[in-house]
Amino acid sequence: MSNSTFIYDNALSSYNIGNNHPMKPIRLSYVFELLKSYGIFSSPNTTIIKPQIASEKDLLLFHTPEYINAVKNLNSNTNYTTPNEFNIGYGDNPTYPNMYESATLVVGASILAANQIYSGKYSSIFNIAGGLHHAMPNNASGFCIFNDPVIAIKTLLDLGLKVAYIDIDCHHGDGVQQAFYDTDRVLTISIHESGKYLFPGTGFTSEIGTGNGKGYSVNIPLHPYTGDDIYLEAFKTIVPRIIELFNPDIIVSQLGIDTHYSDPLTHLYLTVQGYSKVVETIKNLDYPWLALGGGGYNLQAVSRAWAKAFSLMANYDLPNEIPCMYKSTYNISTINDSPQPQLSPTIRKTAQDSAQRSMLEIETMVFPLLKKHR
Ligand SMILES: [Zn+2]
Repeated sequence: MSNSTFIYDNALSSYNIGNNHPMKPIRLSYVFELLKSYGIFSSPNTTIIKPQIASEKDLLLFHTPEYINAVKNLNSNTNYTTPNEFNIGYGDNPTYPNMYESATLVVGASILAANQIYSGKYSSIFNIAGGLHHAMPNNASGFCIFNDPVIAIKTLLDLGLKVAYIDIDCHHGDGVQQAFYDTDRVLTISIHESGKYLFPGTGFTSEIGTGNGKGYSVNIPLHPYTGDDIYLEAFKTIVPRIIELFNPDIIVSQLGIDTHYSDPLTHLYLTVQGYSKVVETIKNLDYPWLALGGGGYNLQAVSRAWAKAFSLMANYDLPNEIPCMYKSTYNISTINDSPQPQLSPTIRKTAQDSAQRSMLEIETMVFPLLKKHR
């Protein structure tokens, strides 16, 4: 029996970062509407919970008082033409109306998810608004103001749990890695497009943690144009074995779908089918599971992939054909991608060699450390 909860409120999707900004919170409402059109919330195994705003005390679990105050005191007119110490009101991280309230609601949703999964009432919980993995203690980064995955994990640590974090966003989960780089109580795994080609420029196999945390930070960088089969082989070869060695109490995952082949900001080449198999592999690890959203800038791919992910959590069968009501409003007809994109043999070979190199490096650098600590 699987009990799954979806954390949602329209307030999570009704703010606007800017019409030309690629991060569109409205995408969250597309996911919710799609799931509703399939009738998933009428299933006795699913519930919806509304989030509450996080307190300043919650934010202080990771962020500095100076940064929290800066976010609070900036209003939507304060934008700069040059960078500042908090990296906000500029470039990737502009100010927007109700910024502080919206950002703290996302954190509140992830804290709620952490407390609910701890209660043992649910086998999985999905906060699609969360997963803002780039935010740093004293600055915004990569469209992320507050780092809700770190704050959710710290909430779980305070409850005495040992946490494994799996980040499948196309970008390296740098903020989360940094937060737990020197501890063995949190294992972080990030599989992403290599930092050689993509923001934030980190996440190499050599980043394995320091001090007590040595061996508890795992990175699987992949070459641009890595498609479903090569991605899945790397994921399935490394992740389940590492999780088994670490033996966590709970899994927190960041399920960004900017790995999709149609994503306008990135270069990995997954389909919704391939992405679903990755999500299914996490599910089959069979731990209490707190899932967060993340990147995803083709809004149709986001709605299809995250609807599929929640259906997998809830063991609810989603027919490939999208219900008529939704189809006519949002102009998408199937959950899966069709036809699947083809790549040239040369590109495939480069991607495969690169994935194999990453796997080999993890095999030699990380596995011996984890086995030793066991
Ligand atoms: Zn991303």
